[in-house]
Amino acid sequence: MSEKKRRIETSCVQGGYTPKNGEPRQIPIIQSTTFKYDSSADMGKLFDLEASGYFYTRLQNPTNDMVAAKICELEGGSAAMLTSSGQAANFYSIFNIAQCGDHVVSSSTIYGGTFNLFSVTMKKMGIDFTFVSPDCTEEELNAAFRPNTKALFGETIANPALTVLDIEKFAKAAHAHGVPLIIDNTFATPVNCRPIEWGADIVTHSTTKYMDGHGSGVGGAIVDSGKFDWTKYADKYPGLCTPDESYHGITYTEKFGLGGAFITKATAQLMRDFGSIQSPRNAFLLNLGLESLHVRIKRHCENAQAVAEFLEKHDKISFVTYAGLPSSPYYELAKKLMPNGTCGVVSFGVKGGRAAAEKFMGALRVAAIETHVADARTCCLHPASATHRQMNDEELLAAGVSADLVRYSCGLENKDDLIEDIAQALDQI
Ligand SMILES: *Cc1c(COP(=O)(O)O)cnc(C)c1O
Repeated sequence: MSEKKRRIETSCVQGGYTPKNGEPRQIPIIQSTTFKYDSSADMGKLFDLEASGYFYTRLQNPTNDMVAAKICELEGGSAAMLTSSGQAANFYSIFNIAQCGDHVVSSSTIYGGTFNLFSVTMKKMGIDFTFVSPDCTEEELNAAFRPNTKALFGETIANPALTVLDIEKFAKAAHAHGVPLIIDNTFATPVNCRPIEWGADIVTHSTTKYMDGHGSGVGGAIVDSGKFDWTKYADKYPGLCTPDESYHGITYTEKFGLGGAFITKATAQLMRDFGSIQSPRNAFLLNLGLESLHVRIKRHCENAQAVAEFLEKHDKISFVTYAGLPSSPYYELAKKLMPNGTCGVVSFGVKGGRAAAEKFMGALRVAAIETHVADARTCCLHPASATHRQMNDEELLAAGVSADLVRYSCGLENKDDLIEDIAQALDQI
């Protein structure tokens, strides 16, 4: 069966690596920093990108490439790479095509770490960001673009706001302005949503979350669709469309085509210079997670749906945010983009504010208090006393995080145990 045609479940299990006669069934961990060659001439060809092969694990490693190839197949992309973290993936996805003096438009409801990366650290590098509401009108979205805009960015399901992005609307605006749409697909995973099918050009992941799924390794991934025609806007993307003097005058779009240019440049330049490589051992663990991703995601979503429905009916709960509830403003959009479910994370408010939320969380026995989501073990966080601790109640409201908000990430346990645990904790307040 051709690799493009097989179904997502089969890609999760078998994608990225097909052993030949007598080779290991499981992907080998190539725990080697370097690779041996017979002649300097052979090695020279690798450095010139004239031949493909490995020479130093800071740039590329065979184990990582097998796992990247699986994620590429899952997302329906043309090329992919692993990074050391989701932060590195999002940084590279933008810095590969934007530099000092450039501008990027981003959804405002994005992961807090990404928001800091964009609004503080990348701003120091001279890249300016305009943030727009994911629910903005087409007019508002179009008005955010400038002549020096190089990309549009958003999250399929935002962490922690749980807003759902209208990927088609965002893709249309990006393409009308001749820039790619970059989508962080961490929360939905390719099992529930494949952003490239809705018009996204580049997809990023924090593989730390559902893809790993067992809280074992921090990692990230970037997938290129190969569909964005950089050469049509060659003036805007000189890094991809004009010779790279640091790589012997190679022009990435000419040498590697639209399908390979973006990832090859990110590997040859950004990995070479920043070195945010994933360790081969973590890539191996990530692959174990990917083998069961399709089975786990289904259960995460079933548990979250049951928990959200229970909470919505409980009189000690002030609100529930979950796109799988018909009362959610994102219900219809989520049904279209993610007909099989959204994610396992639910957020809700406990009546009685900050004190009640803290008391509730302290009374939970099955769910653990952690700064993590998308794990096999149910975990929860009270942002007002953890990630957003420095803010007072008014500042919290402005940030869209109320003092009573609990972020609850449903694991793979029995849903009745989760619900009974929540019920007994609510009884105590
Ligand atoms: C966690 C997360 C990140 C950052 O990933 P790390 O692997 O922690 O660096 C980026 N985007 C989203 C949506 C996340 O949830």
